[in-house]
Amino acid sequence: MSQEAEVLILGGGVIGTACAYYLSDRGVAVTVLDKGAIGHGCSYGNAGWIVPCHAMPLPLPGALRQALRWVLRPDSPLYIKPRWSWEMARWLIRFLSCANERHLRYAAPPLVGLAQESLRLTEQFIAKHGPGDMGFHKRGLICACQSRTGLDAARHEMSVAQSLGITGRELGVDALRELEPAVAGQVVGGIYYPNEAHVEPLKFVEALARQAAQRGARFLPQTEVYRFECSDRRIEAVHTTRGRFVGNQILLATGSWTPLLARQLRLRVPIQAGKGYALIVEPFPPVPRIPMLLLEKRLAVTPREGSVRLAGTMELAGLNETITPRRVEAIVRGAREFLKLPENFEIRETWRGLRPCTPDGIPMVGRVESWDNLLLAAGHAMLGLTLSMGTGQLLADLCTARKPAVDPTPFRPSRFR
Ligand SMILES: Cc1cc2nc3c(=O)[nH]c(=O)nc-3n(C[C@H](O)[C@H](O)[C@H](O)COP(=O)(O)OP(=O)(O)OC[C@H]3O[C@@H](n4cnc5c(N)ncnc54)[C@H](O)[C@@H]3O)c2cc1C
Repeated sequence: MSQEAEVLILGGGVIGTACAYYLSDRGVAVTVLDKGAIGHGCSYGNAGWIVPCHAMPLPLPGALRQALRWVLRPDSPLYIKPRWSWEMARWLIRFLSCANERHLRYAAPPLVGLAQESLRLTEQFIAKHGPGDMGFHKRGLICACQSRTGLDAARHEMSVAQSLGITGRELGVDALRELEPAVAGQVVGGIYYPNEAHVEPLKFVEALARQAAQRGARFLPQTEVYRFECSDRRIEAVHTTRGRFVGNQILLATGSWTPLLARQLRLRVPIQAGKGYALIVEPFPPVPRIPMLLLEKRLAVTPREGSVRLAGTMELAGLNETITPRRVEAIVRGAREFLKLPENFEIRETWRGLRPCTPDGIPMVGRVESWDNLLLAAGHAMLGLTLSMGTGQLLADLCTARKPAVDPTPFRPSRFR
């Protein structure tokens, strides 16, 4: 016997779960299938930032110059594992062709717009259901710079963000240290964006799942999708390790694993996994209070209740989840240049996750034209949490034929053929 749902969501990360929340809130019967535990993919241990100011496309102007300096050094913020893959080569060519000012001006408005909507929806969610244990704080985000070149790049990004309605201001060294005494190393200044937020990422997914479940959504962990049953332009059923499921509409929200399933449906989904690491370390005085981006090291520092999270690095090495000790050490070394980390300190948890990265830095959200009942919500790269609520709402708008709250055009999956 098959189990039926109006919308079958494949993937229970922050994206699939936000979609489940908004769909079930509109009375749609939803089932979410995940090969692991809900929220334990890339959404588990990320830096927890919900930051419209940072909602810029991954390929930024100057990426080529920077990539050439970094790519083959295994301890640099960006590492591309040498391997032959036609998909990877095509992805890189498209990525580099987007690393310019024109693309930034095209991609930033929809990304920042979706991020602002997401932050508004997150606050609305908290107002409606309470803050629970998700650790939501709106203390802003500091971008701390070690070099003049870094500060110039940060200023440029701030001017783009400001033109889109984000509040940000430059800080000199003294003002930066006064605002966040945890910045102990050599810095030349920074930027402060006061209206940005952070949460505990897993708790956030769990809160969304709880509310969706209260509205009738079913969550089935340990249920891996491995085959589709199709007729002409429809997906009739989905075969999983726990049986056959039928859905009126199917939503692929499987993050970095999306190309594997999409291939079976003859779809080109140019998503590469960008591995990142996060370390939960014991608190050290002065304990950081405001989340910080340590710009040159591309490191995120997030204060937590009783600990600190250090996250960063981007490793393009395919769907490979091995932990490279050298990259973990690079995070600690990078953090030491900015913060007063004690000589010996306890790393309580080491985690890695695979960011689903599209080459143009814009997620793929919308209907898939070649199928009558397939939708896609994947490819959120460094911004999955930041864009999650807006994505969930947009997807629900598209599924229920409501006028979308944001323009879906820049996100349409059909832009990659
Ligand atoms: C170090 C690091 C720091 C980050 N910091 C931030 C941050 O501060 N803010 C921010 O906005 N973003 C951040 N990100 C990015 C963010 O974590 C991702 O964009 C986001 O988690 C992607 O969500 P997702 O739901 O698309 O993917 P996932 O969370 O990976 O979910 C996909 C799910 O699909 C399931 N799945 C895959 N294949 C199948 C299958 N065949 N059958 C069933 N289920 C399947 C997986 O088990 C998984 O649970 C960070 C990422 C990293 C690595």
